[in-house]
Amino acid sequence: MNRRDALVAFGGLAGLTLGFWPTRSEARLRPPGARPPREFDAKCIRCFRCAEVCPPKAILFDSVLDLRSSDTPFIDAHSRACILCMKCTEVCPTGALEPVTTDLAEAQKTLRMGSPRLDRGRCLPYSGRGVCRLCYYACPYPDSAIELKGPRQAPVFVADACVGCGLCEEACPTDAHAIRIAPAGGALVP
Ligand code: SF4
Ligand code: SF4
Ligand code: SF4
Repeated sequence: MNRRDALVAFGGLAGLTLGFWPTRSEARLRPPGARPPREFDAKCIRCFRCAEVCPPKAILFDSVLDLRSSDTPFIDAHSRACILCMKCTEVCPTGALEPVTTDLAEAQKTLRMGSPRLDRGRCLPYSGRGVCRLCYYACPYPDSAIELKGPRQAPVFVADACVGCGLCEEACPTDAHAIRIAPAGGALVP
């Protein structure tokens, strides 16, 4: 048995065990193509393949020793966001992550990993503390998912156009998260 087989076997056992414990699954931002939370937890075998292929190393796992966790892959966008390469969806062996097109315009029609929540009191232009726009420049859909409005060119988020990648949250320079991505639960909508 090689290392990956051992991890898969151990992960499956841990998954069975953790099935009896409450999880934080619904509160997690998932990689693109993730099935809805309970189905995702059931299908994911904790093989780490998605994390291995993720170029920015955005995919994280809880410790298997944390019994409150689901131990399924998640993204902490403030630390490292998803660049929408879709490699993780190509290697997932179980369908926990469904394939998502690498055509960003096509992906925008159905991909909803989450949606940004902006705290205007912390945002530099809204609070009158300076010019910024970093979220706008980081967004793969400028003038669609984020528009700049008013004399201060403050960001306005358009939920229906946002895929929830978290690149805006990663780019935001404020110490206390002016932007947080609220996980959508399931990532693909019809
Ligand atoms: S789409 Fe790419 S960057 Fe995003 S989580 Fe998957 S592998 Fe990582
Ligand atoms: S608004 Fe933020 S989460 Fe939405 S697509 Fe743009 S960068 Fe990604
Ligand atoms: S990056 Fe942050 S501080 Fe800058 S405009 Fe966007 S939300 Fe505001």
